[in-house]
Amino acid sequence: MAINIQRLWAILAALNKPLRFAVNDGFAHLHTLKGLEAMAEPLLEEALVMMEGRGGDIKGPLIELRDIFRGIDSCTIEDKKSRINKALSLTGPSMEKRLIEAASENIRRLSAPLGELKGVGPKVSGKLAKKGLKTVFDVLFYLPRRYEDRSRLRKIRDLTPGEASQTVAAVAAAGEGGYGRRKIFEVVVDDGSSLLHLKWFHYRAAYVKRFTPGQRLLIHGLVVRSGYSRGLEIIHPDIEFIGDDEAEPSVSHGILAIYPEIEGLHQKALRKIIAEAVKGYASLAPGGVPPEVLAKRGFKDLPSALMEAHFPTSMPHENKGSAGAPGMADLAFDELFLLEMAMQLKRLSMKKKKGLRSYGSGDGSSGLEGRLRKLLPFSLTRAQESVLREIKHDMAGSSPMNRLLEGDVGCGKTVVSLIAALLAVDSAHQAAIMAPTSLLAEQHYSTISSYAERLGLKTCLLLGGLSAKEREGRLREIRDGEADIIVGTHALIQEDVHFKSLGLVVVDEQHRFGVLQRAELSRKGALTSCEGGEGEAAAAPDVLIMTATPIPRTLSMTIFGNLEVSVIDEMPPGRRPVKTRLIGEKGRESAYNLIRREVRGGAQAYIVYPLVEESEELDLKDATQEKERLASDVFAGLRIGLVHGRMSGADKDGVMRDFKDGKIDILVATTVIEVGLDVPGATVMLIEHAERFGLAQLHQLRGRVGRGERESYCVLIKNTFAGEDSY
Ligand code: ADP
Ligand code: MG
Repeated sequence: MAINIQRLWAILAALNKPLRFAVNDGFAHLHTLKGLEAMAEPLLEEALVMMEGRGGDIKGPLIELRDIFRGIDSCTIEDKKSRINKALSLTGPSMEKRLIEAASENIRRLSAPLGELKGVGPKVSGKLAKKGLKTVFDVLFYLPRRYEDRSRLRKIRDLTPGEASQTVAAVAAAGEGGYGRRKIFEVVVDDGSSLLHLKWFHYRAAYVKRFTPGQRLLIHGLVVRSGYSRGLEIIHPDIEFIGDDEAEPSVSHGILAIYPEIEGLHQKALRKIIAEAVKGYASLAPGGVPPEVLAKRGFKDLPSALMEAHFPTSMPHENKGSAGAPGMADLAFDELFLLEMAMQLKRLSMKKKKGLRSYGSGDGSSGLEGRLRKLLPFSLTRAQESVLREIKHDMAGSSPMNRLLEGDVGCGKTVVSLIAALLAVDSAHQAAIMAPTSLLAEQHYSTISSYAERLGLKTCLLLGGLSAKEREGRLREIRDGEADIIVGTHALIQEDVHFKSLGLVVVDEQHRFGVLQRAELSRKGALTSCEGGEGEAAAAPDVLIMTATPIPRTLSMTIFGNLEVSVIDEMPPGRRPVKTRLIGEKGRESAYNLIRREVRGGAQAYIVYPLVEESEELDLKDATQEKERLASDVFAGLRIGLVHGRMSGADKDGVMRDFKDGKIDILVATTVIEVGLDVPGATVMLIEHAERFGLAQLHQLRGRVGRGERESYCVLIKNTFAGEDSY
């Protein structure tokens, strides 16, 4: 059994309290103290059970304590006093120190690399690392996407359309067929009660060979009624091949957790790794909620919640997806509790910090701001003006600004942040603008530097991948205060970058924060604790966080704690809403026609895919392969470009720049384009496998079009076999 540090802490505190009361005022209240043994005994018993099989530095004192409390109530006064003194020292600071050490030991063990887990070699580690899973802790918190009830088998005769079911049957016939260019692989299976058709639209040649007649299969998937044969079928079923020697398949899977896909790793393998992690390490997970609060609110502690989330004992409520799963609410509670606590701590530390200085009180007609306004080809919208007033108010105040600027994509947040930056520069401070990706940082840089240069300011772009010499040069510019506005990725603040006098930090496109990842929380912690530089400026800088994700006010207060919120609720004039349509496979041709028509009219289009390379599990269309098909067939004669996450930064930029410059008509892409890209000439956003994207992502993607004066379109293609887990 692992030591539950929190519980131990609580036990020691419970013991310590009456002892302190007893010694008060020279043992004045000693006579009122009764039943010490009865109070202490069960607590110490519980603590000692936890310590079973463990070494001495915590256990030893606990045993001593038990002996001290034994019979204490009937001791002589003098004996009682000495016992109480001894007990006090045993439950005091030295014990707390040991507990803290034990807690850090737990955390060290949780931070073990994945190679420590049984069955995880370097190859598998590599695959997991691509998803950001590097330690045992990461794996423990890689939570299921949904659950499947694999505890029951059905006869084919008893299958009902619209239900996800599981059956065992043998291959009767298998073959490839299809219409036109689209191939499909079809298998007919028979279990003696009836026949069932299985279909794949995307598959590998090698996969086909495994379906030899007579091969028995464990089949799971959503049963549907076929459009033309009227028979029952499952599209892209989940298959387990049953070996010859296995009499009956092991369907004792119970409730199965289905995890977000990891390229090149089967669910089964992934599940095994997670099981190892849960078995060996879940008990070490440091919950953030004190046991009393858990008990009061009826939540489980973190280890039990993790256990339940990965290996649920009952099927979650059907319509709630993974959120309705047992364990998930407990995990969410733990997370929010921590977040609130962190915010509270931050709030306290912010209060102690003095604000930089006051600036930004002008009416906008003078200084750098006034000069910028004359350069802008447009005037600010009412909404932009009003949030700017709020920002100026904060900046002029005596404590650092902490403001969230929320506004739909394309509403013009950048120019607002630029003005804020100019206010800082006008009072001889620097401004840092951070974007989530290098590409976006470069885009900001090109917008901002073009204005800043005309104002005679020096801008500086700081990204990873610079040569040591270039980097050193830029770091020097930042340190010496030569650079007024510094643009970069988040690395800007984490790395060893010294500012002469950092007045303002702008963080763009923080919508990913919505997922409440712990890692990002700590990143933000790092952000707000950054120091402004030397001397007068060594206070916390003003912080402006920009997001396009609509966050309800109450939620944003919960998430961001002390952040004030400003909203831009108006679009620049001349924008038309993007026409959005959701279509199935059947609408594909007309979507292609729309793109052809728009490109003929001089516009551009995006086509977005969820993945880069074909993956067996997902059988999703792969952007690379589709680009070839589109270029040689569907859009023959048009100029087609491709960007995806595996390309080098330079290659990506080259393609994006060509698209921006109108040298490419259609940009085939994975989600790398999702945030912030500004190409006003693009009018169509076609999203393949729309069901694979989250709502916030779709929203971002749609925001890439409708940025100019022309009518724009967003077409979502949902695959017919999307199944029950697309919501
Ligand atoms: P986002 O809020 O998504 O970051 P941007 O700041 O990129 O939006 O602005 C989108 C486009 O709108 C840019 O091309 C920008 O120049 C333009 N824009 C911003 N404000 C105005 C305005 N008040 N009037 C007209 N165009 C504007
Ligand atoms: Mg933007």
